[in-house]
Amino acid sequence: MTLDPLDPAGVDDLLTADEKAVRESVRRLGAARIAPYIADWYEAGEVPDIRVLAKSLGELGVLGMHLAGYGCAGMSATEYGIACLELEALDSGIRSLVSVQGSLAMYAIHRWGSEEQRRCWLPPMAAGDAIGCFGLTEPDAGSDPASMRTRARRDGGDWILDGRKMWITNASVADVAVVWAHAEDGIRGFVVPAGTPGFTATEIKRKMSLRASVTGELILDSVRLPAGAVLPGAHGLRGPLSCLNEARYGIVWGAMGAARSAYEAALRYAGEREQFGRPIGAFQLTQSKLSDMALRYTTGVLLALHLGRRKDAGVLRPEQVSLGKLNNVGAALEICRSARTVLGANGISLEYPVIRHMNNLESVLTYEGTAEMHTLVVGQALTGHAAFR
Ligand code: FAD
Repeated sequence: MTLDPLDPAGVDDLLTADEKAVRESVRRLGAARIAPYIADWYEAGEVPDIRVLAKSLGELGVLGMHLAGYGCAGMSATEYGIACLELEALDSGIRSLVSVQGSLAMYAIHRWGSEEQRRCWLPPMAAGDAIGCFGLTEPDAGSDPASMRTRARRDGGDWILDGRKMWITNASVADVAVVWAHAEDGIRGFVVPAGTPGFTATEIKRKMSLRASVTGELILDSVRLPAGAVLPGAHGLRGPLSCLNEARYGIVWGAMGAARSAYEAALRYAGEREQFGRPIGAFQLTQSKLSDMALRYTTGVLLALHLGRRKDAGVLRPEQVSLGKLNNVGAALEICRSARTVLGANGISLEYPVIRHMNNLESVLTYEGTAEMHTLVVGQALTGHAAFR
């Protein structure tokens, strides 16, 4: 039996038939609907017909796919992770669309929302008929969300929200925003329909990363919401942090998708490109790079799979998700940078996926908790000392 260069350790043997079926179905949709166009979307800095794309992803069943009921697919955490890997092999922006929808906005409503909120929002969001966003970060509050300035106050039975949210994925295309704000009794979450007076969303332009993803700013100017808009179960930072933990788990897998795509491109290029009369893959230095990529990719996938099995068993700790995000995003970036050198000048061209993945991963390194924050989370877990301030 020959060795599969894209799975040199034979990790495939550890996947169930259902998990492989999820992988195949995401690959099929990606090959037909995304792969042929993604470089153009990235170059243009927009995803045309994002609603049609969201609908296709909904039909595929990947929006909120690890949630149960309310039109969600109710699949395992491992199956969700595998879908994230395949989506991010296309582009981190596509995986971000799915992560923000399922792990942030839908998860917040599913876990912390009222029955009415769940019934109203989850079925159309699972189907891709409604797009969601998740507003936690502000211009002056990123790694330290407790310092947020957005305020929620009571006015009779209503709530009034004032503030700004920055760097919000899906902001200007969202039908609904889950917005976090300081209320009298601490941080609370609110379900804000996009048409609510005083709520505006504008797109952030000139990004050099995640260009095939919509990122924007939310402005809340005396936004009046009914009493039923608050997420009743979420009190304090635990609410948003629980959602972030879900999305980070998807990134542990997703980053390996970007890594695989870059590694695959480098491997193929090394076999085709000739210099000094030989394929560059015949040189020891190139082989060293490719072996290192294979090693990092394989260990990253194994770690993701292990954490997925722990999540399915209900024993995954947030610190372990930090460990996974820290390792796998860093490894994916290293793989992309090394693959970029294998492609020489072609490595900087959008004709190949490598630099697109590399630029995207700079965002992935920062969002859902920066590499520094996850280092501190792991450091605290190891030593018992918090070093955040
Ligand atoms: P800061 O918190 O200002 O950090 C700047 C630097 O200082 C970082 O290197 C950081 O690690 C370091 N630093 C900060 N504190 C410490 C410390 N105590 N010790 C050591 N180093 C420290 N947010 C949302 O709410 N919803 C979204 O949908 C969303 N989507 C995003 C999409 C994109 C493309 C990007 C780029 C960001 C998105 N974000 C989103 C925001 C993201 O989560 C924040 O950018 C991230 O949390 C970091 O915050 P910051 O950018 O304000 O950086």
